[in-house]
Amino acid sequence: MATNIAVLGAQWGDEGKGKIVDLLTPHFSAVARYQGGHNAGHTVYVNGTKFVLHLIPSGILHPGVTCIIGNGVVIDPQALFKEVDELARMGVDVDGRLLVSEKAHVILPYHRELDVLSEARRGERKIGTTSRGIGPAYEDKIGRRGIRICDVLGDRAALAEDVRENVHARNQIIKDSTLDWKPVFDQLVVYAERLRGWVGDVSLFLATAIRQDRRVMFEGAQATLLDIDHGTYPFVTSSNASIGGVCTGLGVPPRAIGGVLGVAKAYTTRVGEGPLPTELSDSLADRLRETGQEYGASTGRPRRCGWYDAVVVRYSARINGIDALALTKLDVLDGLPEVKICTGYRTANGDITEFPADLRTLDGAQPIYDTLPGWDTPTKGVTRYDALPRAAQRYIRRLEEASGVECGIVSTGSDRSETIVKPSSAVERWFAER
Ligand code: GDP
Repeated sequence: MATNIAVLGAQWGDEGKGKIVDLLTPHFSAVARYQGGHNAGHTVYVNGTKFVLHLIPSGILHPGVTCIIGNGVVIDPQALFKEVDELARMGVDVDGRLLVSEKAHVILPYHRELDVLSEARRGERKIGTTSRGIGPAYEDKIGRRGIRICDVLGDRAALAEDVRENVHARNQIIKDSTLDWKPVFDQLVVYAERLRGWVGDVSLFLATAIRQDRRVMFEGAQATLLDIDHGTYPFVTSSNASIGGVCTGLGVPPRAIGGVLGVAKAYTTRVGEGPLPTELSDSLADRLRETGQEYGASTGRPRRCGWYDAVVVRYSARINGIDALALTKLDVLDGLPEVKICTGYRTANGDITEFPADLRTLDGAQPIYDTLPGWDTPTKGVTRYDALPRAAQRYIRRLEEASGVECGIVSTGSDRSETIVKPSSAVERWFAER
């Protein structure tokens, strides 16, 4: 059987998954997104043209590849239409290549407003969400009052009933609110017509593709440390970004996943609130932020920056069963006199080397670092592992040891061409398959 690969974030997101997915796509017949919403933002450069994708897998930039949005994703139809129109403007036609799960839940117009209110209510303890209504849409899904794509396309009277109930629940949450259900319903009816041509049974499509030996890539959004169950709760996203999300968010069995590629930056970043043990606050943080252009693709928010945290990546490797890492943005470290890898945390209760569940353990925790010499010769644009400066190779080796997983891919720039596939790695074997 051809190896189907899951590509997911091993840190707090923005690892450069878009570039890696885009790079691997020619080896696959379909790319399937399994969770999250349009808060995710993949930036891909193709021959100097910038594409920013939020909902549609970046596989769409490759003709002939089917792009799938699974049931685990929550969909704001307006955001989806906007993305489709934007792609059309850039010469990319999605018709016949986009498949949206009939079981995916819809983000309703007022979910956004609920998001803002919920953050305001949390005050100091705010999560730092993108306020796009994604959390409240997942809340409605779990609260069993959500509206799915198949409901939007189905019987009008049943849809009217569902919308009435959902709006009623919403009016009870927001004090003195009397939102009318009818305009919400009318808008969904309009959306239905445009959505219809893209909607289908994703699980069935994938099962058929896999049986016919057509390779599928499972694409994660956000990342493991933002996973609702395994991330730094409550500073997390509302879905399972880690490997379990592939099965629940697409309706595929675990055995369909033949390999797991974890994407990690050569340093660490995080957008929004929550713990970040290796966070830097000095000029070095500014240096990483500017060189790495660490500003959110969706919101433009500056990202918090720190050294590579092997405790975090080792934890991710365990949760996801990562076979190989794609190490991105190595070039951002070019020219630094020394580079550091965090291998443990010094806490009030002693040193720890496993990522803790209780965030209070991380309060005041001091990273324990291995310090290595930096490199003067740039890695930027290098395409062969043995052409990397010795010190960069040593950094990668130490990072692999500390993370307990090999780097199959090293990315040395944002362009597709600026990539190293490590000889005789799991990734090279996956690449050899077509
Ligand atoms: P994603 O959500 O994980 O895809 O990450 P983002 O798209 O938000 O951020 C990744 C950014 O880093 C994009 O602007 C990429 O073009 C860029 N990028 C990816 N790999 C590299 C790399 O190896 N070097 C540099 N300098 N930039 C990279």
